[in-house]
Amino acid sequence: MCHEVEEIPFDVVREFDLMDGGDPTTPPRFSCEQCGGEMYPEYYKGIHGQEYKLSDFH
Ligand SMILES: [Zn+2]
Repeated sequence: MCHEVEEIPFDVVREFDLMDGGDPTTPPRFSCEQCGGEMYPEYYKGIHGQEYKLSDFH
């Protein structure tokens, strides 16, 4: 939300994806350490092969 960019290792993103039940309609989300807003991965290919791009959520 504040355009903070955080480098998150792929393995960590995948862990989050598994934790939220692997819901294929939503990518893993993170809380921004700066503003508490939601962060989405810029690009992520999910555990079920689904692909997310940041542009899909803006
Ligand atoms: Zn932020």
